[in-house]
Amino acid sequence: MLSYSSATADTPLLGETIGENFERTVERFGDREALVEVPTGRRWTYAELDAEVDTVARALLARGVAKGDRVGIWSPNRAEWVLVQYATAKIGAILVNVNPAYRGHELDYVVRQSGMRLLISALTHKTSDYRAMVEQIGFRDVVYLDDPSWEALLAEQAPEERLRERMASLSFDDPINIQYTSGTTGFPKGATLSHHNILNNGFFVGELLHYTERDRVCLPVPFYHCFGMVMGNLGATSHGACVVIPAPSFEPEATLRAVQDERCTSLYGVPTMFIAELALAAKFDLSTLRTGIMAGSPCPVEVMKRVVSEMNMREVAICYGMTETSPVSTMTRHDDSLTRRTETVGRVMPHVEVKIVHPETGLVVPRGEAGELCTRGYSVMLGYWEEPDKTAEAIDAARWMHTGDLATMDADGYVNIVGRIKDMVIRGGENIYPREIEEFLYTHPDIADVQVIGVPDERFGEEVMAWIIMREGAEPLTAEAVREFCAGRLAHYKIPRYVHVVDSFPMTVTGKIRKVEMREQAVELLGLQEAARRRNA
Ligand code: AMP
Repeated sequence: MLSYSSATADTPLLGETIGENFERTVERFGDREALVEVPTGRRWTYAELDAEVDTVARALLARGVAKGDRVGIWSPNRAEWVLVQYATAKIGAILVNVNPAYRGHELDYVVRQSGMRLLISALTHKTSDYRAMVEQIGFRDVVYLDDPSWEALLAEQAPEERLRERMASLSFDDPINIQYTSGTTGFPKGATLSHHNILNNGFFVGELLHYTERDRVCLPVPFYHCFGMVMGNLGATSHGACVVIPAPSFEPEATLRAVQDERCTSLYGVPTMFIAELALAAKFDLSTLRTGIMAGSPCPVEVMKRVVSEMNMREVAICYGMTETSPVSTMTRHDDSLTRRTETVGRVMPHVEVKIVHPETGLVVPRGEAGELCTRGYSVMLGYWEEPDKTAEAIDAARWMHTGDLATMDADGYVNIVGRIKDMVIRGGENIYPREIEEFLYTHPDIADVQVIGVPDERFGEEVMAWIIMREGAEPLTAEAVREFCAGRLAHYKIPRYVHVVDSFPMTVTGKIRKVEMREQAVELLGLQEAARRRNA
């Protein structure tokens, strides 16, 4: 039996634009709450939100924004992010998500590469002075939130008929969103996504979580990423559920307070967010929680189990995917066994196909064998914005997206992510999947979080190194103590040679660990520059 799986579905794909889908929800659930911004106390019903979305949409039309124009949004989470998302969708402008952690030169790159027509930007957040950075790159077509320029934009309104005409001229296969993604390495590439891509992905995530208009979804994950704007916003609005914004960026305390006070039924996060929340969970009433999603990087089994038992998230799901696939390709189902819901990334999504291929031969591997996961279906992006060569490297002639993730598939189609192709450690000819060692070390009572990398080694090519964050109050572990813990339980070649105790890992804003940066730091720390040079040569 080969590692190929596709999912039949009783529910058909949605064949409509995001604007049409949103307006159908407004018709059905106009009086129900749609959006709550906890830090300011602002709230909107669907009817109210639709009216404000239209105000922004008609303002953009009055400003001359044409179908297909790129409109950037550079802001941490706040209600205007959502307004701009749905307003640009209604007028067929392509929303360019700009990472709130970007600095001037990264902004400059995406502004130029996308050919940005207009940027809507926050003024400041934490240490970021967005206005100073926009001015530094000399970009002029910019509107700032909390600023007279935003009021001025909204003051000019195109007639309602023009909005209706524009909406009627759109097709659901049009590009509607560019998300710059570099995974954890390399220059950002603009994954270009259509209405059809992201509306359906959000919709089916919501379907599998059994969302209805009674659900209230707490989103501490960033809107600029699919996790927030697709699995969160589109997942909720396609079902009439309510989006709750706990804070502009992740704060564990504010998140749990929002769940409690807003009686949320669903909570999203990357693993590191849930780890931070677990330390505080006992102080809050989380009894309204039912479901939620952990995703974005490998979800440790122990953390999943604690989220079920200590945060009351009985139906929590794991999603696996990437920006280029809208993002979700596989997901656990609410009626999967606890084992499968914690130890796998579930099965292929409805209407999607996945296969696992040998990285060299490209042949589909037998079930149980590791290889590169590929995805095909409605969810595969249109391509990288104006980079046909990079698109062709990622999407083959048969329309399979090659993810760069290593995975296995069991006899029932459940998928396990064992690592990134680039992160696989090869020690003395043995392939080592860091994930396996990480899972094992998570079972140590003093370890709160752990990441395993390969570092250069003269003799074996690579050696295993573990970076460990200790649980509060625990003594830092020595390399000897870690090796003792592993002895007899892990094959000798998988036992970490080096151990490094830290307070945090180098991370992207979406909670992805920067293993490349960890390796660079480790080379310095361990004085392995010479071995590194030889290995690269
Ligand atoms: P992004 O495009 O930023 O969403 O990053 C996608 C990458 O995140 C994938 O290619 C995987 O390497 C990783 N990833 C996402 N979800 C999971 C998951 N549930 N388990 C393991 N890795 C994941």
